[in-house]
Amino acid sequence: MDMPANPVWQQRLFLGSWKSGNGEQINVTEPATGEVISQLKAATPSDVDRAATTARDAQTQWVAVPFDQKAEILRKAATLLKERADEINGWNTRECGSIGPKADWELQATYEQAQMAAALPMQPSGEIFPSNMPGKRNYWKRVPIGTVGVIAPWNFPILLAMRSVFPALAMGNCVILKPDPKSSICGGVLMAKILEDAGLPEGVFHVLPGGPDVGQALVEHPLVKMISFTGSTAVGKKIGETCGRMLKKAALELGGNNAQVVLEDADLDIASSCGAWGSFLHQGQICMQTGRHLVHRSVADEYIERLAARAGNLACGNPAQEQAHLGPLINEAQAKRVEDIVNRSVEMGARIVVGGKRNGNYYEATVMSDVTPDMPVFSEEVFGPVAPVMTFDSDDNACSLVNESLYGLAAAIHSRSTERALQIANQIQVGMIHINDQTVNNEFQVPFGGLGSSGNSGRFGGPANIEEFTTSQWVSVMEEGIQYPF
Ligand code: NAD
Repeated sequence: MDMPANPVWQQRLFLGSWKSGNGEQINVTEPATGEVISQLKAATPSDVDRAATTARDAQTQWVAVPFDQKAEILRKAATLLKERADEINGWNTRECGSIGPKADWELQATYEQAQMAAALPMQPSGEIFPSNMPGKRNYWKRVPIGTVGVIAPWNFPILLAMRSVFPALAMGNCVILKPDPKSSICGGVLMAKILEDAGLPEGVFHVLPGGPDVGQALVEHPLVKMISFTGSTAVGKKIGETCGRMLKKAALELGGNNAQVVLEDADLDIASSCGAWGSFLHQGQICMQTGRHLVHRSVADEYIERLAARAGNLACGNPAQEQAHLGPLINEAQAKRVEDIVNRSVEMGARIVVGGKRNGNYYEATVMSDVTPDMPVFSEEVFGPVAPVMTFDSDDNACSLVNESLYGLAAAIHSRSTERALQIANQIQVGMIHINDQTVNNEFQVPFGGLGSSGNSGRFGGPANIEEFTTSQWVSVMEEGIQYPF
């Protein structure tokens, strides 16, 4: 991909339209090479105020835009995503270290979110309730929340921003998006350009690249009525505290440490394929990543052998220049963190079956055995390409190991007996369970979300978006006025 000479975001911020910014420059560093490949303007906390005021003023007009016109804008945005696939995927590869298939998948999933959001404005928006009072009608209707602040992470920066942005807009809200500074081009300014070109009225959507100070200013701004946050549990808790204090709605989609359970009657070829995909896709930097492989003792050796063979075939490389299964991790700090977790677990008795080496920002696909629950590779969210395998002896034992984690995002269960797998599913406390499949599952039409330390039960997708991005209002109408006793 050729770097644009004068990109639209040069020196500018998208505050409902392109405005000059006076914040610092963010250097966009390519994780594969360490090269600075572009620059963009960071927002400042005072830009949050500018955006929130503009959005408040724009929202009345946006709500009044007829539903078919809102739908048309979102459909046009979907079309532009496809038309600009090369540009968007190019940035996803160079800015975020994504391999081609990951970038393609993310774009397709974002396209589906736009198409689904385009269908929302025409959904029924309320119900009629009876009244005991003659001549009185009770309407209960969905209304927009106002301005929604969306704070997104860097790992799937396009999808995880736009899965909130599109439905929030569809339901009549204005949106201020704060992307992560490590992914503000593909997960920020490119999306601003798409919505602008799709015909979204000025002032309705804003993009404020920046760090925690900008995020915090967004969360604390009184004109921002809801925060939709995707990111780490630690930051999500802080945001939840602030929102709680301000009585502000918060949808929190947080970290995970997801288990794949392999029963002794499982198809080990399928299970090991699912395990490899679940652990190594996008270098393991996925909230739904398979972070714990729980395998029945009687088949553990065979499972480990098959999983290790798959891992051993995976090549690390710069996805902008060569075909690679694993690109770089997002930066050196993250790669060193993965290395440290693996090394500390080895010191505690774990064994590296394959992989286990870091080369700059790259980390090999790694399989570990002899893992115990007290090891960091089992108890922490590694966010790297590491597959720790632990054994169990009974279904109850497997369930308690799954539930040992405070996280509760996703789980997978492999068995030739669907009934047995469903019984286990009934005892597992997570938001999403996939039988004979892997943990990294996302379908735009199905509500998505976690429990416990993985989130506060907010849900994205399908009908859940209507509930998530609206509030409700009771309107009653008396045909004629009524006299009260005084
Ligand atoms: P992070 O929490 O560090 O950052 C996420 C976003 O929050 C970024 O935009 C960041 O700038 C912003 N931020 C940081 N501090 C803030 C503050 N004090 N106030 C407001 N905003 C602040 O997370 P990360 O490291 O970028 O992403 C990885 C984490 O996200 C992992 O834990 C992963 O599991 C989780 N995640 C969850 C999901 C999900 O759907 N459940 C999806 C992807 C990633």
